Amino acid sequence: MSFDAARLANAATAALRAYDPGHDLPALRRLHGAALAELGSNENPLGPSPLALAAARDSLAEAFRYPDPKGAALKRAIAGHLGVAASRIALGNGSHELLMLIGQCFAEAGGSIVHSQYGFAVFPIAAAVAGARAIGVPALPADHPHMPYGHDLPAIAAAVEAGTRIVFLANPNNPTGGWFDDDTLDALLERVPASTLVVVDEAYQEFVDGAGPRSALRLIDRHPNLIVTRTFSKAYALAGLRVGYLIADPGVVEVIERLRESFNVNGPALAAAEAALGDAGHLRRVRDWTLAERAWLAGELSVRGYRVLPSQTNFLLIDLGEDAAALEAALFARAVIVRPMGGYGLPHTLRISVGSREENLRLLAALPS
Ligand SMILES: *Cc1c(COP(=O)(O)O)cnc(C)c1O
Repeated sequence: MSFDAARLANAATAALRAYDPGHDLPALRRLHGAALAELGSNENPLGPSPLALAAARDSLAEAFRYPDPKGAALKRAIAGHLGVAASRIALGNGSHELLMLIGQCFAEAGGSIVHSQYGFAVFPIAAAVAGARAIGVPALPADHPHMPYGHDLPAIAAAVEAGTRIVFLANPNNPTGGWFDDDTLDALLERVPASTLVVVDEAYQEFVDGAGPRSALRLIDRHPNLIVTRTFSKAYALAGLRVGYLIADPGVVEVIERLRESFNVNGPALAAAEAALGDAGHLRRVRDWTLAERAWLAGELSVRGYRVLPSQTNFLLIDLGEDAAALEAALFARAVIVRPMGGYGLPHTLRISVGSREENLRLLAALPS
């Protein structure tokens, strides 16, 4: 009999497919060098704080030792930064790992999780890993006056069943860039039973301006079933080091700690993240620059006739109203990488990260006139 590993996969894993990274970026970098405009992964083109880089470099002298399994120094720094107790914080190898851990620890085979259509792709995978059913709630319509493709929070609250263990929300959301208002989150948390955890993924919180939502952290004392996730990958520009964190009730953190791999965040990452938090000036420059560049790029795309969705993130979703594959291919041919959204059920849109001014100009020049 021949060996077929796929048939050995357990029921939860059998239902999954591996992450599709899109293009082979290492090969494209070798091919194009500095001429490649990488606008597909929402990375921060300004790069990390020099203090973070120096801390990571210094920590390499200790790389023969295991890192601090508790990440105590980074937790203290985050706690001080946010004004919460360190016992409320768990660290992850990126916030992606934490979302998966939440699924593994709290989703239940035979039960469900609730998420939004066009929400972050990791959410249903975090359900599948536990054999839970993912209930996808239809998003707001494409022609919604304020938030096309946005999360419909009343409908999400209504979709919660007796066996729903987790509601996953992203605010602002990837891939749409949109958000939901503070009062709709308040109402959802009042309605959802305490036996259902509500996860608010705030990977882009640092890019929110006065028009956008306040952090759900303001509700953390009132609702012990609320979990907020954050990352150092976007505004802090440490995507390659893999550090994220969550803020939750200490009891939730205690459960997650049971399954968390002891050394999940490596030494250079712990050191860099702590130093990055200490460089408030760098974060302010990143934020000010990104918000200005986002507005400029949205304007440039709009005057060229593209429908640009509202964004409180470091990327823009453009809606072509027709299949976007041809435009994506035309940009690719000119070494401009953007993200096609067919996998999200939005094949008529493209997600474009706010790159450096030079990259953004190359994008604009590569658009067909
Ligand atoms: C980029 C992103 C993350 C961050 O992932 P990391 O694993 O921390 O790099 C989390 N959630 C959303 C919605 C994102 O877009």
